[in-house]
Amino acid sequence: MQSQSRWYDADIERVLITEEEIRAKTDELAKQVADDFAGIDQVVLVGVLKGAAMFMADFARALGRVGPAVELEFMAASSYGQGTTSSGVVRVLKDLDRDIAGKHVLVVEDIVDSGLTLSWLLKYLASRSAASVTVVTLFRKPAAMRSAPPLKYIGFDLPPEFVVGYGLDFGERYRELPYVAVLKPEVYARG
Ligand code: 5GP
Ligand code: MG
Ligand code: MG
Repeated sequence: MQSQSRWYDADIERVLITEEEIRAKTDELAKQVADDFAGIDQVVLVGVLKGAAMFMADFARALGRVGPAVELEFMAASSYGQGTTSSGVVRVLKDLDRDIAGKHVLVVEDIVDSGLTLSWLLKYLASRSAASVTVVTLFRKPAAMRSAPPLKYIGFDLPPEFVVGYGLDFGERYRELPYVAVLKPEVYARG
């Protein structure tokens, strides 16, 4: 079948991680988590909107095939706004719907850069008395190795560049890209 050009093709500088690589890695992470959680029959996945939406949906299904039953919880917190650098200020836009006391929580993250958002979230979840809190992140940037809280499951290490796609936005756009890519400099300059 002839592949059609898409509206965003002209904006892409290069693809860093393909759709196929994301799918394979998601299955691999789900297997690791399933092995480690053997004997536990219920895990609460906490996804942080909006960036983690795509990974949450795919990871939950991958885990469902090989691991424990899951509950899906979403929180919305904002730290980046429209720009490309972290403000360190986290605002809760949507809280958990249910009590997580005594539950095994797995935070599902899209990307960890400075780790500021995640540090804040882990403190927040700890204050809710979860039985355990672990983190799976699909992407990690180099800064995370210095300052981020411990990450048990990591999909891919990325270069220190601002990326878009698979949930990650630039000014709320490009989240629907099936892969992760760097945009052309002129696109970032347009803001
Ligand atoms: P941190 O607090 O670790 O610096 O950043 C966490 C959040 O910043 C991520 O959940 C994501 O929303 C955003 N972020 C960090 N790096 C990138 C990036 O390269 N591209 C995009 N689109 N968002 C990013
Ligand atoms: Mg995130
Ligand atoms: Mg964003």
